[in-house]
Amino acid sequence: MASIQQGPNGPVLVLKESALQQKGKDAQQNNIAAAKLVTELVKSSLGPRGLDKMLVDSLGDVTITNDGATILKEIDVQHPAAKMMVEISKTVDNEVGDGTTSSVVFGGTLLAKAEDLLKKDVHSSTIIDGYQAAAEKTLEIYSELSKKIKPDDKESLIKIATTSMQSKLISEDSDTLSKIVVDAILSIVTKKGEDYFVDLENIKVEKKSGGSIQDTQIVKGIVLDKEIVHSGMPTKIDKANIALLNSALEIEKTEMSSEIRISDPTQMQMFLEEENRMLKTMVDKLHDIGVNVLICQKGIDDIAQHYLAKNGILAVRRVKESDMIKLSKATGGRVISNIDDLSEKDLGSANLVHQKKVESDKWVFIEGCKHPQSVTMLIRGGSQRVIDEVDRSIHDSLMVVKDVIEKPEIVAGGGAPESFAASQLKDWADNFDGREQLAIKKYAEALEVIPLTIAENAGMDPIDTMANLRAKQNQGRKWTGIDAKNTKIADMLSIDVVEPIAVKEQIIKSATEAACMILRIDDVIAVSGGPG
Ligand code: ADP
Repeated sequence: MASIQQGPNGPVLVLKESALQQKGKDAQQNNIAAAKLVTELVKSSLGPRGLDKMLVDSLGDVTITNDGATILKEIDVQHPAAKMMVEISKTVDNEVGDGTTSSVVFGGTLLAKAEDLLKKDVHSSTIIDGYQAAAEKTLEIYSELSKKIKPDDKESLIKIATTSMQSKLISEDSDTLSKIVVDAILSIVTKKGEDYFVDLENIKVEKKSGGSIQDTQIVKGIVLDKEIVHSGMPTKIDKANIALLNSALEIEKTEMSSEIRISDPTQMQMFLEEENRMLKTMVDKLHDIGVNVLICQKGIDDIAQHYLAKNGILAVRRVKESDMIKLSKATGGRVISNIDDLSEKDLGSANLVHQKKVESDKWVFIEGCKHPQSVTMLIRGGSQRVIDEVDRSIHDSLMVVKDVIEKPEIVAGGGAPESFAASQLKDWADNFDGREQLAIKKYAEALEVIPLTIAENAGMDPIDTMANLRAKQNQGRKWTGIDAKNTKIADMLSIDVVEPIAVKEQIIKSATEAACMILRIDDVIAVSGGPG
């Protein structure tokens, strides 16, 4: 059987040797047990009253998080079926960004419910058929249930961002942060025909510990965590003409080692003067075509720095390649490798380039760009651990806002749609015969794990709460869910707890797929060798 044991890198899900050659029911039971263990690991973190996990690695580094995908990414999972559960959270994270904990909790519960049926000798293929039919029906129910919104309806987008932050460390600051997230996305959204698209690559995230989460801000432009290279250079340029160079501004050294014999001191002088002259020519070229800001991916020679300063050119060196690409997009400039090739049309432009103090560092801000579809989110917080969690949570919020802009349909949260779909599925199951009907009903029960767990984590009585919730929904109040903050049931739409339908759909698809895949396995065979 799989179990959780203490390994050198923290808790490890292990598979006993003997389990490596298991057949039929043994294999199935073992896989289900492993998947259920993974579910138990993340279950207590679901919903706004879910608890955080502290993950400690072998070096003693600590991560504090509530994000299912992060928890599972950090723990060392060795059991193959447990790994498949971890995969669900990764897929959901990549596809829609949120709903990772829900999908693992739901997937594990689907397997636990399947176990009940396997014990009653229902064949796994029948369970799989029932589950797949139920999943399709659930998607239909969600689609009928969902509400269309306008993709640029700022108020709705803010509600969605806020909901995704409720279960995170940043929930206290969600008022400020959700506005920043929506502001950032609306600055980069593009429209093709009737459809809207969001490329999150256009949002650059910079983190700096110090200050508080409330100091997090959005800069309409690019922020570079570098300071201006020479103290004699201007620290602020209005109407910047920007050259983007991906090679070093210095005299190239030869590849081979060579020796120059100098017989008289004037020759040495001439040699240095020649180097100076070449650097000066390069800087003069920049000046002549009107460059007043130079952003360089590599180094800048001291002498070149001196000439740049003399010409009033602001320069930054050793900028990341990814930032060069963003700068090129934002300023409309072309990244070039040789100054000789540079011409006026290659220059980018921005209204303002200036150096600003961020805590103890000085950073360069490039604002008012030609193509404003590039923004930087400057994340602040009391410590590195806090800003790392803020970063993860903001990423999830950016993703859900993107989801809803690209597919502008929402449902309420707090377990409302899961509970609604569960009752509908139970009625619908009566159309099926015997065993498949059992499987569909089990699927419906598994869906209820979401409201049940949210209630349980909020300290509410799960059984009573579910009974009340079902009763209200049966009276036609379909948006009734668990108001975890006030520990009562409530109309989740009226308290602004809303989520993109895309997230709900992905949870259904990924969890069902993983559960069915695990149920299909009836042989676990140890094979020698591995990838590579
Ligand atoms: P996931 O990783 O699945 O997104 P979370 O821990 O973020 O997991 O919890 C998400 C669940 O919490 C969703 O079902 C969402 O509807 C629910 N939720 C968010 N805010 C509230 C709230 N105020 N009351 C009840 N449930 C909420």
